[in-house]
Amino acid sequence: MSAIGERIIRCASCDGFGWFEDEFSGEVEDCDWCAGAGYVYRDGAGRDSPIPPADYVSVAGELERLELERLRELGYQGSAKKPWRQAIRKDTRLGLDPYDDEESS
Ligand SMILES: [Zn+2]
Repeated sequence: MSAIGERIIRCASCDGFGWFEDEFSGEVEDCDWCAGAGYVYRDGAGRDSPIPPADYVSVAGELERLELERLRELGYQGSAKKPWRQAIRKDTRLGLDPYDDEESS
């Protein structure tokens, strides 16, 4: 399904977060531009399109690399705090601890 020249870039609308928080209501909404992924395909003509969920598996490595890059820009050092433990990820899919370990013990 990859078009020629297609690559994955950080979503220009939500800057990789995948969601917006309404500053008045505090409600969190998925970004329409990237369908909540935080990243989009950009084709050779410069058009962006959301990454279909069916593609997530095949692009997971690339998304992880981009996400690490983004977290590093934000000052995330890669060991102190996992993304799903960051307050900024609360109420998003990334706010779920994938390992469900004993954080509370
Ligand atoms: Zn977005």
